[in-house]
Amino acid sequence: MKKLFFRPNMIKQAGGLTRRQFIYLSSLATAGFLAGCAVHPVTGRRELMLMSESQEIEVDRRNSPHQISADYGAVQDKALGDYVSHVGGSIAGQTHRPHMPYSFHVLNAPYVNAYAFPGGTIGITRGILLDLENEAELAALIGHEAGHVSARHTSQRMTRGLLAAVVLSGVSVAAGPDMGDLVAGLGGIGAGALLAGYSRNQEREADSLGLEYMVQSGYNPEGFVGLMSMLNEMSGKEESSMAVLFSTHPMSSERYRTALNEVASRYEARKRTSPVFRERYMDNTAQLRRIAPAVKAMQDGDGEMMKRNPQKAGEHYRNSLNAAPEDYAANLKMAKCLLALRNDREALRYSEKARSIYPAEPQAMHIKGMAHLRLRNFDQALSQFNSYEQALSGNPNTTFFQGFSLEGMGRKEQAARKYYDYLQLVNQGEYARHAYTRLQEWGYLQ
Ligand SMILES: [Zn+2]
Repeated sequence: MKKLFFRPNMIKQAGGLTRRQFIYLSSLATAGFLAGCAVHPVTGRRELMLMSESQEIEVDRRNSPHQISADYGAVQDKALGDYVSHVGGSIAGQTHRPHMPYSFHVLNAPYVNAYAFPGGTIGITRGILLDLENEAELAALIGHEAGHVSARHTSQRMTRGLLAAVVLSGVSVAAGPDMGDLVAGLGGIGAGALLAGYSRNQEREADSLGLEYMVQSGYNPEGFVGLMSMLNEMSGKEESSMAVLFSTHPMSSERYRTALNEVASRYEARKRTSPVFRERYMDNTAQLRRIAPAVKAMQDGDGEMMKRNPQKAGEHYRNSLNAAPEDYAANLKMAKCLLALRNDREALRYSEKARSIYPAEPQAMHIKGMAHLRLRNFDQALSQFNSYEQALSGNPNTTFFQGFSLEGMGRKEQAARKYYDYLQLVNQGEYARHAYTRLQEWGYLQ
């Protein structure tokens, strides 16, 4: 058998870079580095942008599918997805960059959040849809996110020195056998660094643009006030289900007042004439509202998982499954919770259920693979990780777990190749140490 031969400096090629930096740099390398000055689409001024428009689209294309899967995929309720896409489409047409490849995704995730990738991929969770009261509020939310895209806020943040701040969040990771006790990511909420932390100025600009877009689309600005009031009220409560939303879109009473003032000074007349479409919103979200208790129970479960209390989390997930037994996210969350509780056989059962409910959604493949790993069914684990890689490539964790499965099967040479590939992407953390140690032990490193 032909041996691989790595020199230690090959392993260190990514030396000094964090995984995020490495992925960021590789995404730039393919897209062609440095876009230079560009005319800002909203202000019309020339401004330094690190990413060109094609790079924004490329970064979006590479990263957004991982975030969407971390958020349990788009809902299978096609009518709901189409409805939100329809509202989104009408907003997109009013933006400063109507030519961007916008797409709108209602995400199975129960937490309260919405986000935009720089190419126009916009995600809206079931959690936040349940907190909105009419279509004008939804239009305001989408308008705000489209405002971030139009004003190129991700590019601006890149330009301002946050070069390392590109994703990949991917699927949260469970520990394999003899992998220590890494259950931290099991219940984690996936929010990529790409989406992290707009500045207060950017929030203000996105608010102002969002308001403009939704009013131009014919909605009552009261919807914008309603959205802001909901956020303002929630921001005082420190609920764990809202934490990601507020860490990415900072809320403040100043922001709230500014929004209200802008409605009063610019759009007062529209408040009397334009509709908010409350009934239409209620009709289109009726099916989702029916399982609101299940979504709420998942939020509670996630809160307990974040406090590292899987036992309690399991009770909440049990409640959500009682309310909605066929819910993909609920089954998968239960599987992850059971992995954290080391009840691997039951975890496998729930991950299989999730797989059968939503066969095309990759996260269940990953979790089912983890359950098989724990049960030392290495060949079945490998088959899940291979399926995952096929459905959603570019997640370094998959490479590691393919290697780990191959190692378990005694296929050292193939395992070594995967470990080597993994170390090209990630050079710190427990998995990197494991990969490095094996390569040394097996004589691939000299
Ligand atoms: Zn924002």
